[in-house]
Amino acid sequence: MAESLFFNSKQRLWVGEALEIAESLAEDYFQVNLGNLGQFPYDLQTLANLQSQEKTRRALAQVCKYEWSKRTPPLKRGTKEFYRICLQDDKILDTVRTETSSLSLLKSLLLYIVTHELIHVVRFSMAPQRFFLRPEEKRAEEKDVHRMTYELLKSFADPQVGLWAERYRPWWGKCGLEAEPSVLDKFCHRA
Ligand SMILES: [Zn+2]
Repeated sequence: MAESLFFNSKQRLWVGEALEIAESLAEDYFQVNLGNLGQFPYDLQTLANLQSQEKTRRALAQVCKYEWSKRTPPLKRGTKEFYRICLQDDKILDTVRTETSSLSLLKSLLLYIVTHELIHVVRFSMAPQRFFLRPEEKRAEEKDVHRMTYELLKSFADPQVGLWAERYRPWWGKCGLEAEPSVLDKFCHRA
């Protein structure tokens, strides 16, 4: 049987659980209220619900930023930005399949990715200029976000989550460039 490109219903449930855990960890870490949609306007979608520009073959996830002109009704002032975390089901499933045929590491990888992307969204929401950094600045930002992902998930004592945290550690640890794992995410912008 051909392998599915999309998460099944159980796996989509894991995505929802991962988001709930990540939101709670991020709220503690950043001392913010992510329920405040005016300050943190975002959502998360999986591949089945992504528009063509929200899909990428080059990363496991993508954060898309949408901006509206202030003149566009019915949006009020201060609600002109929106971030969407776009999970690329097929790339994530492929990554797990290269580790194990049972997909047993999927749940923990989802938690790592969702936590990482949510940290980006919190940081973009608090300082929007971070979305438009120069390449070398982006690299530093990515390192910081991997380090913070590690710190957030440290309290979540799960060996499988720990495995992914270690896997991405070269991004911010002392290892050389060649040790860096594949690209976790990228960003797209729609004005
Ligand atoms: Zn990232």
